[in-house]
Amino acid sequence: MKKSSILLIYTGGTIGMKQDPVDGTLRPFDFSELLKEVPELMKFALRIDTYTFDPLIDSSDVEPSLWQSLANLIRDRYDRYDGFVILHGTDTMAYSASALSFMIDGLSKPVIFTGSQLPIGIPRTDGKENLISAVEIASAKDADGKSMVPEVAIFFGSKLIRGNRATKVSAENFRAFDSPNFPLLAEAGINIRYNTRVIRPAAPEGSLSVKTDLDTRVSILKIHPGMTPQVLRHLLCGAETRAIILETYGSGNAPTSEWFLDILRESVGMGKVLVNVTQCLSGAVDMDLYANGKAMEKAGVCSGYDGTTESTLSKLFLLLGESRDNSWVKEMLKKDLKGEISR
Ligand code: ASP
Repeated sequence: MKKSSILLIYTGGTIGMKQDPVDGTLRPFDFSELLKEVPELMKFALRIDTYTFDPLIDSSDVEPSLWQSLANLIRDRYDRYDGFVILHGTDTMAYSASALSFMIDGLSKPVIFTGSQLPIGIPRTDGKENLISAVEIASAKDADGKSMVPEVAIFFGSKLIRGNRATKVSAENFRAFDSPNFPLLAEAGINIRYNTRVIRPAAPEGSLSVKTDLDTRVSILKIHPGMTPQVLRHLLCGAETRAIILETYGSGNAPTSEWFLDILRESVGMGKVLVNVTQCLSGAVDMDLYANGKAMEKAGVCSGYDGTTESTLSKLFLLLGESRDNSWVKEMLKKDLKGEISR
């Protein structure tokens, strides 16, 4: 029987870092050394090929160009592998996993992001466990020989999370990611328990396609007490944005002062796409619940439902990249494209 094969893609991040002997800061090191650190990987009956980005980056330097390179790399090598594991820094992993979930259509194989809180060379590292389980998940097949998880997902701290439902919730805990509005796709203990009920079905083989046109003219505003009309108008009505994500209170509420609503109406009148997501960790926007939310809806603000800020941002990049027509973008925001919102 043919051995399963995995492409392990290394973009950078803590998992592959070591301490600079001179100034003590963490800096990326050579990927060949990373494999030396995890000889356990050799025990899988798998062929593991590697691809290293050059230069390696701390994920706080990630730009959409990295997503385009990753999507193209997966498209170009798709037929040669059974699954893909992407080593990525934790800081923007949820953004990158969300973006890839929208950029890759027709997926029938796993694309699993992972990383770590402690570098792999450190004895207490969480990187080994994360990497080994991510490889196991990326190569797992059901009784019919089909991939168990034909999705873009994040494996971290024993949880497998849909990429566009993930958010980083801790800067130091090993369970650094959560999926506040959607069940886990799997959980790793003695066994890896797959939640097959919620895993998306595989697309028909041969249907893979990749979208790389992104329009990044989107900004994010976290609503807070003490906002001023000057700052709000600058963000919402500036020529440089086509869409603004408003991170609102609770179930989608914001101030009802006339100046605030006037600026919202002015922005919508300019044709901009305003999207309401909650700044709470879990729960959904429901603009019909309170008068404050209703006022936003009346001003023309779209609901982001129970989507994360990370997934709403990358969904907008993709939709705006696909069309210049903002009314079409608003219609598409209502649709659950890749399991990112509950509709
Ligand atoms: N700053 C690092 C990064 O995101 C943090 C990490 O990997 O955990 O690349």
